[in-house]
Parts: sequence; structure tokens; C-alpha cells
Amino acid sequence: MAKVVCVLYEDPEDGFPSSYARDDVPRIAQYPDGQTTPTPSGIDFTPGEMLGSVSGELGLRKYLESNGHSFVVTSSKDGPDSVLEKEIVDADIVISQPFWPAYITAERMAKAPNLKLAITAGIGSDHVDLDAAINNGLTVAEVTFCNSISVAEHVVMMILGLVRNYIPSYQWVTKGGWNIADCVARSYDVEGMHVGTVASGRIGLAVLRRLKPFDMHLHYVDRHRLPREVEQELNLTHHETVEDMVKVCDVVTINCPLHSETEHLFDADMLSKMKRGSYIVNTARGKICDRDAIAAALESGQIAGYAGDVWFPQPAPRDHVWRTMPHHGMTPHISGTSLSAQARYAAGVREILECWFEDRPIRDEYLIVQGGKLAGVGARSYSEGDATGGSEEAAKFSAA
Ligand code: NDP
Repeated sequence: MAKVVCVLYEDPEDGFPSSYARDDVPRIAQYPDGQTTPTPSGIDFTPGEMLGSVSGELGLRKYLESNGHSFVVTSSKDGPDSVLEKEIVDADIVISQPFWPAYITAERMAKAPNLKLAITAGIGSDHVDLDAAINNGLTVAEVTFCNSISVAEHVVMMILGLVRNYIPSYQWVTKGGWNIADCVARSYDVEGMHVGTVASGRIGLAVLRRLKPFDMHLHYVDRHRLPREVEQELNLTHHETVEDMVKVCDVVTINCPLHSETEHLFDADMLSKMKRGSYIVNTARGKICDRDAIAAALESGQIAGYAGDVWFPQPAPRDHVWRTMPHHGMTPHISGTSLSAQARYAAGVREILECWFEDRPIRDEYLIVQGGKLAGVGARSYSEGDATGGSEEAAKFSAA
């Protein structure tokens, strides 16, 4: 029987919800490319409930305990005194989320000789040291596509929010003002602007499709080129390099995984190549951007706005400069964990666990590492390496 340790974000400050704003969430059976949504043998939750916080337990307790497994759920994940640090030593499986990432570093793997499976309840397994997972024979799996559309919707919202200057305008209202000139002094239309995505995977392509009706010019860069029919349908301009693309774009949206090729891709040098006054929306991973270079580019006006929901580390220290830099529209890491998305990734984790315990193959599209190498979607979209360096700084948040 297995010991499963699951790290989830904290419950709401005013308690775990007893009722919800809506009575249901739409049922989605298939993603846009035809992949089916998760297919566990059953679920023990009602879609639309909070599943991603500690008391929600991803709806897994009944399933795991009735099959004789032990299940520890905690939000305490950083530092030597954390619950995770203590519980991982005899864990067989760790489940963690990108939103409140349990950094599974090489040191932690070394303390956990039984650890065989790391499941990401979401998409993006950069919080696991993939090199160490490869060397230690771990399987790493994530719930591919579960929240890609959730993020794409968020990206569109943030692009419009930045370009139209929504947040400061909203703040004038709550302050009791009617300061139209203050609001519009930084407000533009996206129509006719050039927008480019770094990566045209599930999120990047969905963003392009959603922006097409705004009559924007669409650009992309990716390791693999999209099919010609898609390029024609969306009238896409493909660029060989990120540098080539950012030079001509008014808005850049970052939608690639964090791995050794993309860490700090947007540094001072890349930012200096962008058009003055461009906007960046990064819902991929905070570490793809250089923290201080972004803040400096906003201060100088080289970029006009920056928004996203991803930081490094997470939770972001209370003095993280992205909390206070000008013209930003940052939120905590929320875009992929709407109540709608939670239902899909909770079901996806259950599907992966059922496969694991029943000795059935995990879907190829969920695999990142298996058998000592990158596998499945991981072999296509990631490169070997470790992006967890510096994650110990996350302990500063709860210490503050
Ligand atoms: P996909 O795997 O569908 O897409 C990733 C794309 O990135 C692939 O097309 C891949 O290329 C491309 N890519 C990888 N490396 C590079 C590179 N060096 N340069 C250009 N393109 C590259 O994943 P999703 O679109 O679903 O998600 C993307 C990322 O978004 C996740 O890895 C995660 O980090 C983040 N995310 C954030 C969420 C949030 O809540 N904020 C939620 C979900 C995801 P190819 O496959 O052609 O090699």
C-alpha cells in the first residue's frame, strides 16, 4: 500500500466555501485537438466545488483510503520544518500543484528513497528537478490540457486589461473619482496591433485563436512549426527566433514551459530588442523572465505594461519587486485553477493514480519523465535540466 503526500494551497481566509456563486460548471468532454478530458473510473466530488485547496483534497481521500493507501494533505511545503519535508521521507507518491509548488529538488528526492511518482495537479512540472527525476528513476506526470483553455482566457483578459488600462481605471472608481483623462492617458485599442506568442502549444494556439476576432496581426515562434492550414487560417507570421518576433510586436505573450532553454529568456538584452512601449503577458512561468530586468524596463518605459500570474519562487516573497513595480497587472498564480479547471485536474490526477495502482500505462500525453528519460509530452516540449534553483527562497513568504 502506498503513502501519498499531497501539497495544496491554503483554504480561503474566511473558511472553506459552503456555497458557490454558481450551481454548476459546463461539462466539457473533449479538448480542441480531440484529446478527451480525464477518464477516471469515478470521481468523489461535484465539479464546481473547491478541490485545489487543502480541505478540498482534490477529492481523492475516499478513493485512496478505501484502497488501503495513506493520504497526507498539507500546505506546509517550504523550509526544513515544513510538513512536506517530514512526510516525504517515506512517501511513495507526491502530488503537487504549480500554483503552490512543492519544489521537489534533488535534495528532497535523496531523502525520499521510496518516491517513485511525482504528479503535477495541473500543467508545468518545472518545480520538480527533472534531471534528478531522470537519475532517480522517478515517473513525472502532469494533466496535459486540463487548464490550457483556462489560461488562454486569462491571457486575453490580461492583454485587454493592460492595453486598455483597466486596473487603474477601476481603481479611480473605487477611490470615488471620475478621472477620465487619468484613465485614458495610457489607454489604447488592440485592433491593428501586432501580438506574438512565444510557443504555439495548447495555450499559445488557443490565445491566437481567441485574439483573431480582435483584428490583431498574429505572430508566433515555436520549436515545431504549426501546420500550414493553421498558419493560413489565422494568417500567422512565423518567426525563427524570439528576437525576430519581439522586434515587430506591440504585445508579447509567453506560453512555453520553463526548462533550461527558456529560463531567463526575457532578460535585459531581450527586453532592449522589443519595441518601446510594448506589453508582456506571462502566464507561463515567472523564471522565464528576469525579475529585475522586467521591473527596470517598466520604470524606464521600455515596456508599457507587464501582467501575468506566475512568479519565482511561489509564493512570492512579500518584498518581491513585481508586487510594487509600475504598470503591472499581476495576480497570484490563479489562471489555471478556476473552479472549472480544478474539476478537470482533480479527475486527471485520479486517472493517473488509477493507472499507476492498476499497472496500466499512463497516457503518453501526461508523461514528462519515465524510465530514466524525458517521455511523452515531456520529450517533445521540455529539455533536460533543473529549474528549481533558488526555490528555497519561497520559505521567506511564510516566515514573514
Ligand atoms: P504545451 O505543451 O501544449 O505547449 C508548450 C509549447 O511550448 C510547445 O508547443 C513547445 O514546443 C513550446 N516550447 C518549448 N520550448 C520552447 C522554446 N524554447 N521556444 C519556443 N517554444 C517552446 O503546453 P501548454 O500550452 O498547455 O502550457 C504551456 C506552459 O504554460 C506550461 O508548461 C506551464 O508552464 C504554463 N501553464 C501555466 C498555467 C497557469 O496557471 N498560469 C497553467 C497551465 C500551464 P514543441 O512542443 O513544438 O516542441
